[in-house]
Amino acid sequence: MLTHSLGFPRIGLHRELKKAVESFWKGEIDEATLLQMAKELRLKHWRLQHDAGIDLLPVGDFSFYDHILDMTVALGAIPKRYNWQGSEVDLDTYFAMARGTAGADGGIIAMEMTKWFDTNYHYIVPEFTPEQTFSLSSSKLFNEIREAKDAGFNVKAVIPGPLTYVYLGKSKSDNFDRWNHLDAIVGVYEEIIARVSKDVSWIQIDEPILVLDLPEHVRDRFQNVYERLARAKGEARIMLATYFGDILEHKDIVLSLPIDGLHLDLVRSPHQLDAFLAEFPSSMILSLGIVDGRNIWRIDMDRALKMITKACRAVGEDRICLGPSCSLLHVPIDLEEEKKLNPEIRSWMAFAKQKCFELRVLADAIEKKDVQDILFENREIMASRQNSPLVRNEQVQKKLQAIDENMFRRSAPYSVRRQKQQPHLNLPILPTTTIGSFPQTPEIRSTRRRFKNGGISQEDYVRAIRGFIQDMVARQEQIGLDVLVHGEPERNDMVEYFGEQLAGYCFTQNGWVQSYGTRCVKPPIIYGDVYRPKTMTVDWITYAQSLAAKPVKGMLTGPITMLCWSFVRDDQPRSQTCKQIALAIREEVQDLEKAGVKIIQIDEPALREGLPLKRKDWHEYLAWAVNCFRLATSGVKEETQIHTHMCYCDFEDIIEWIAAMDADVISIEASRSQMTLLDTFREFKYPNEIGPGIYDIHSPRVPPVKEMVSLLRRAIQVIPAERLWVNPDCGLKTRDWPETIASLKNMVEAARMLRKELGDSKK
Ligand code: GLN
Ligand code: ZN
Repeated sequence: MLTHSLGFPRIGLHRELKKAVESFWKGEIDEATLLQMAKELRLKHWRLQHDAGIDLLPVGDFSFYDHILDMTVALGAIPKRYNWQGSEVDLDTYFAMARGTAGADGGIIAMEMTKWFDTNYHYIVPEFTPEQTFSLSSSKLFNEIREAKDAGFNVKAVIPGPLTYVYLGKSKSDNFDRWNHLDAIVGVYEEIIARVSKDVSWIQIDEPILVLDLPEHVRDRFQNVYERLARAKGEARIMLATYFGDILEHKDIVLSLPIDGLHLDLVRSPHQLDAFLAEFPSSMILSLGIVDGRNIWRIDMDRALKMITKACRAVGEDRICLGPSCSLLHVPIDLEEEKKLNPEIRSWMAFAKQKCFELRVLADAIEKKDVQDILFENREIMASRQNSPLVRNEQVQKKLQAIDENMFRRSAPYSVRRQKQQPHLNLPILPTTTIGSFPQTPEIRSTRRRFKNGGISQEDYVRAIRGFIQDMVARQEQIGLDVLVHGEPERNDMVEYFGEQLAGYCFTQNGWVQSYGTRCVKPPIIYGDVYRPKTMTVDWITYAQSLAAKPVKGMLTGPITMLCWSFVRDDQPRSQTCKQIALAIREEVQDLEKAGVKIIQIDEPALREGLPLKRKDWHEYLAWAVNCFRLATSGVKEETQIHTHMCYCDFEDIIEWIAAMDADVISIEASRSQMTLLDTFREFKYPNEIGPGIYDIHSPRVPPVKEMVSLLRRAIQVIPAERLWVNPDCGLKTRDWPETIASLKNMVEAARMLRKELGDSKK
């Protein structure tokens, strides 16, 4: 039974690729050194997968930045502004497309980047213009195939499919239909496929858009495109790969395509198997995506074997092969690196290398090879996880059972709360505030690092952080803000900070996953029932409040964001895990209130990211997600003001759910769209208070007062001034102090000018 890998993490076990590429950018190493290093890394990864038991290895999954950008380069779809001359695309042009260039003339802006389906990986969005032409402009794939074959590996070419490529791209001219280019693009694909078919037996073409709700016209294009590709493939065979969901809606189309193999994601969507088995054409091989490519848990082998056996019975063992559900790009490379994890918890996990091994064992088990010991061990591990007191906590279970309907509701509607909050807070009209974080200076970072490494004592650490808070409070008072924050100097990251203090979470030392380009993250892992052993923020916030006469906002990360930015449990629904986090946050919210904090902000920037890929699943998700936010925030008195914050997303189609969160105040990013985002809130008649960001925090630019005044004037036309707040788009942690102070002073001045204007107009 053949095992294959759909793709492997490219960044390297110790982020070797990140380091090499960044050194290249800084001019510390030359191109030849970078290329050599990349070659070694590819060889290492093929070797590793091969040694773990993978028969068919992926080529084309490596990338210096992003594989969709690589496809753009292969197609010669280089936007005009990069002044490309039309031959093999060089590395400088490649990186310019990814990151833009600086220059006296203002440089060239980068191509847009966006999230890859519902993952935290970001791809570079293809750009389409009417006059564009396409021609094969990269030999990267061919070179890498040569490289792998020279090293003696059995390989499969991997490329993003043409329909997915065009679908994910954007037209850069009004009224231009990017699908007009499909024909020409498929022409280049034919060339690529004809060439690689001489060297490989399989070509994997990824069409993950098949898991989305596709417009009719896109579905209709598959037949013709794949007929053309089939004619180009020669002796090689084409495997159509789908992942991140089921493709049931497009089953008839897919099964009628002239392809030789089909890959299904059976981790996300095991329910689709039966429908495909029932009418699987004898001309195709079925690849079972059986090992989870999106999460870090060890597979339950008995369960997997049941599914594989069923498939073998239905279509014949010789027509089944095994793979991970999707590319392994989304998981860390090697669990053996994690020496500090609790050994019991570690035994429940598998990273990319271990997942390759799991595939081998499953294939061997089907072939009746002697893997009984491993299956036995797997059974024991599954049982240990299921019964472990590390996973199940009776107290949490009791609390969950005790949840009643009232816990999801504030004790009074907003209109009543507002009457109580006003005298309690005593704020001017158009109150000014910030989103939470202030510049994370080198001193702040090094204090945290030294504390973490044991370089300074707890006492000294607290003193140092208090010093930073004191400084930030003083600066805010000087600037004249109305609602202050403590500045978040103790936080490395808004999820990690809370995860480290909550039970049920653990952290890897080396569990890097690529987010975009050379940026990697180490997502926290939720392994067990989540609860809060002790308060998490109360000391810092009350300290800040003790220094100021004006209210200081408590600052927490919400349950949905805590969930979305972590590896989550696969032994219970996400909604259940989210509820547990919500209970923990609720306790913190209540403790803040008890400690005298009058305003508490619970950030939920990930609410929209968590949306399911298929529209029909949105309602269910939004219902539990919003409920979790409400559970976290509803346990306070009417006079306590709850804020939330969201950024960089469209609100249009989820506005009713945002309203249903029932925060007293929501701050959103709005400056880049010149407040047009607010139209959604007006049309919906959003009932509570809003702080539309009036300056972009991504740039060091200091926006002049009159610019912010004009944005605020625009906002007042949409939202009544009584319900309007004044704040930046997002947290300020990436900024430096000089521009932060200057910008906030201008912001405060803008608010004052408008207050005066409003006052005058009332007289
Ligand atoms: N309170 C957080 C901050 O200011 C919010 C960050 C975010 O929205 N991503 O940094
Ligand atoms: Zn934000």
